[in-house]
Amino acid sequence: MQTSIYNYAKDQLEQYFLSIDSPKFRATQVFEAVYKQRLTDFTKMSNFKKEFVGKLQDDFYFSQLKVVKVQSSEDGTKKILYQLDDGNLIETVLMKNNYGYSVCVTTQVGCNMGCAFCASGLTKRVRNLETAEMVLQVLTIDNCLREQNERVSHVVIMGIGEPFDNYDNVLSFIKIINDGKGLEIGSRHITLSTCGIIPKIYQFSEFPLQVNLAVSLHFATDEKRSQYMKINRSYNLTELKKALQYYFAKTKRRITFEYILLDGINDSLEDAKLLLDYVRDMNAYINLIPYNETGKQFKRSKDGRSRSFFDFLMKNKLQVTLRREQGHDIDAACGQLRVKELLCKD
Ligand code: SAH
Repeated sequence: MQTSIYNYAKDQLEQYFLSIDSPKFRATQVFEAVYKQRLTDFTKMSNFKKEFVGKLQDDFYFSQLKVVKVQSSEDGTKKILYQLDDGNLIETVLMKNNYGYSVCVTTQVGCNMGCAFCASGLTKRVRNLETAEMVLQVLTIDNCLREQNERVSHVVIMGIGEPFDNYDNVLSFIKIINDGKGLEIGSRHITLSTCGIIPKIYQFSEFPLQVNLAVSLHFATDEKRSQYMKINRSYNLTELKKALQYYFAKTKRRITFEYILLDGINDSLEDAKLLLDYVRDMNAYINLIPYNETGKQFKRSKDGRSRSFFDFLMKNKLQVTLRREQGHDIDAACGQLRVKELLCKD
C-alpha cells in the first residue's frame, strides 16, 4: 500500500531501502530532496535512475494538508485551520517570539484525557494523527516562512491531543523534524507536553534525542488532581514523581511543570507550598500559565494572586516563569483549539 513519504523517519526509510536491496544512503538522498530542496515530485530528483523513481512512486506519495483558514492576532500569532484527507479539521498555532518562530503542533483529532478545564477534551478522540500529518503542520508553515528567509526554529507538542497516547507516530515526527537532513530543529528546541501517562514516561526515558519534557501538573494533591484530571485516577502523583525521577536519572534533563493558575482552586499560598513540596527534590522548572477562560466553571487567577504565587516560588529558589499570553484575541492558546470551529461554526 502506498504511504505518504512524510510518514517515514530516516531510519525507517533506511530499512525500506535495505528491504528492496538498495543502499541505506538513498534514505539520506531522499531526505535531502524532500526536506532541504522541498521537492514534491520524485521525477525531479535528478540523482535517481528512472526505474528507481518508478519504484518510489509506487510505494510513496506526497501528501498535503489543506489550509482552510488562518486567523492572525495583533501580536503576530497565527492560528491555522487545516483539513485532513478524511475531512477532519485540526489546528496549529504559529507564534513569533524574540528567539524565532515556534509552532504548536496537534497530535490527535480530539482528545480522550478529559481534563475538566481544557476545551480540547470536549470532543472525544476521533483518531490519532499520522506522522505525516504532524510533519506537514510544521512543513507547510516553514515553506511560507522560507519565502521571507525565516524558518520554524522551535516546536511545542502542546496542541490538541495527548502525545503519549499516540506515542510511535509522535516519536517518528520528532525524529524527522530534528534530523540534520530533515527540518533540523534542535532537540532542545522541541518540547513535548504530557498529562502524565506513566508507562510512556519510562519508555521516553530511553529515547536518545534530548527533547524537553513538560508535564501538565496543575494540582499538587491527588484529591484535587483526580477531581479535575482523569489521568490522575489511573496514575497518581506518587507514581508520577517516581517516573519523573527515573526520567531525570536517565536523561539528566530538567523537567518543566506546567501549572495553570485557576482562581480559588489551585492559586492560594497553601497550593504554592504543596507545589514546592512536590517538585522540591527534582530539577524542576515551573511554568505558571494564565488560564484562558473557555467555559463558566473556571476563572483566571487574579493578578495579585498569581504574583504572590510566583513570588513565593521564587523566594524558595525554584526556577519559575509566569508565561505571557499569546494570541488571546484569536483564542489561539493551547487547550482552546478546534472546539470553537466545531461547535460555533463561526
Ligand atoms: N495533552 C498534553 C498536551 C496538550 S495541552 C498535556 O496535557 O500536556 C497543552 C497545555 O495546555 C497543557 O498544560 C494543558 O493543561 C493546558 N491547557 C489546557 N486548557 C487550557 C486553557 N484553557 N488555558 C490555558 N492552558 C490550558
